[in-house]
Amino acid sequence: MVDPTSELGEDVDEADAPECAACGEKIIQSPTHRVVTWVEDGRVASRHFCSPECKAEYDG
Ligand SMILES: [Zn+2]
Repeated sequence: MVDPTSELGEDVDEADAPECAACGEKIIQSPTHRVVTWVEDGRVASRHFCSPECKAEYDG
């Protein structure tokens, strides 16, 4: 069972860490981590960014 109080970033193994969609950096316990989620073909998809700057860059 997933502990709902463990938010993103706690005890995340580097291998399991998401990569920033803009710069490709592994995102590990980053306070500026941003996640964008949306529904695509009936499934929830997500994209991770290491900072708001990377998100802005990706968004153009
Ligand atoms: Zn980045």
